[in-house]
Amino acid sequence: MPVKARSDIMARKQQYKVTTRLVHGPEHSAKWDFSHHVTPPLSSSTTYRLDSAKRGARGFQEFGQLVKDFGESPVYIYDRLDEPTRSILEGELAEVEGGEACVTFASGMAAISGALGSTLRAGDEAIAHPVLYGCTHSLLANWFPRLGLVAHRVNLNDLEAVRKKVSERTRVLYLESPVNPTLELIDLGALRKLCDELNRERAPERKLLIFIDNTFATPFGQRPLSLGADVVLHSLTKNLGGFGTELGGAVICPKAMLASLLLYRKDFGGILSAKSAWAIMVYGLPTLALRLKRQQFTAKKVATWLENHEAVARVVYPGLESYPQRALARKQLLDFDGDFAPGNMLYFELDPARIDAEEFVDEIARSAYSVTLAVSLGHTKTLIELPASMTHSSYGEVGAGVRLSIGLESPSDILADLKAALEAVSKPKSASKRRREKPAAPSKAPNRK
Ligand SMILES: *Cc1c(COP(=O)(O)O)cnc(C)c1O
Repeated sequence: MPVKARSDIMARKQQYKVTTRLVHGPEHSAKWDFSHHVTPPLSSSTTYRLDSAKRGARGFQEFGQLVKDFGESPVYIYDRLDEPTRSILEGELAEVEGGEACVTFASGMAAISGALGSTLRAGDEAIAHPVLYGCTHSLLANWFPRLGLVAHRVNLNDLEAVRKKVSERTRVLYLESPVNPTLELIDLGALRKLCDELNRERAPERKLLIFIDNTFATPFGQRPLSLGADVVLHSLTKNLGGFGTELGGAVICPKAMLASLLLYRKDFGGILSAKSAWAIMVYGLPTLALRLKRQQFTAKKVATWLENHEAVARVVYPGLESYPQRALARKQLLDFDGDFAPGNMLYFELDPARIDAEEFVDEIARSAYSVTLAVSLGHTKTLIELPASMTHSSYGEVGAGVRLSIGLESPSDILADLKAALEAVSKPKSASKRRREKPAAPSKAPNRK
């Protein structure tokens, strides 16, 4: 975007010392030619030159409005308010989720706290599903009370229980679907119907809103706005970033919420860095469908293999016939082409009489090459962890299962590493029986809490 040159200063530039010229660089550059770049340039400027005080005033006045992709270019002032690379990513995320606007944040948690913090006032209430990502649970359980906010925990698939709990003060129904880590689904269509009914009597600024954290499915596997949600949240750190190199978060929301979210982000300061926005936009989004399709292909193989393993008590994967909410999964989890998209996440429980889950993941950490013991998910690498003692250790709602995030490795390698680890830590059948008969050997007893 060519800036009108201040030709008089350019003519005098040679009169300035090299030191000064190195500080200021070219006064004008025709090299910033965005419209012909194949890959967008990475902007990394904390502040922006203003031609006049009027331009600065205009920038502040217009801040909070939707940045358009056509017409006059916006007035950028300071990175924490708005900047081009992040703004282009936000346009892409809004579009892929089918939303009106998007505001990105420094992390998924910054996006979640920002969306809730800019919507709720002291005295307001939210109703959240009992199982949530551990830090979201901690935000609701530990920080909400300090801020005068209330978060009730109700099974959001139990509509009568929700209806009973909703009061004048309730503003938000908060959920993940699929839930991290149990992979349970919430019926969004049913919840939408209930909200519409309850909203009939409410003023526009007090309407009940459905917030969904769509991190597990990604927009590739589910577009919640089309299923009835009002606001979509993401940790861009996971499959949207995809390579495990950037932290980020996003809120996709109606236009009416945009100004308040931007003002909140400006004042609380949790902005996504332009460099991370660039990487997510240039590497993450273009490869999203490709990665997810490959990961799903492998996830189905791994889930099926685990389900047939004698030491595995239960496997939860939306793509299995045994998945309890099979019909709902086929309605809600659809990719861009309308095909079933069961995702790349698995949750499974080992038979504690045969294998201790902690010993199993320790063996993976010791011996596996294609599977890594680490939190996070949606990576190019397959990651395994124990939610109860790691990602969800802030509360006791999750069982003693194992969470597996499938990456891009060859499926047979993942299976071979899982098989080897299961074999290495399996208790001999007779030995495990003997131990159960003689509980006097405490040091060898399964140490699940
Ligand atoms: C990881 C995660 C978050 C938090 O995202 P960060 O980018 O780590 O802050 C929120 N929700 C879900 C479902 C997650 O998996």
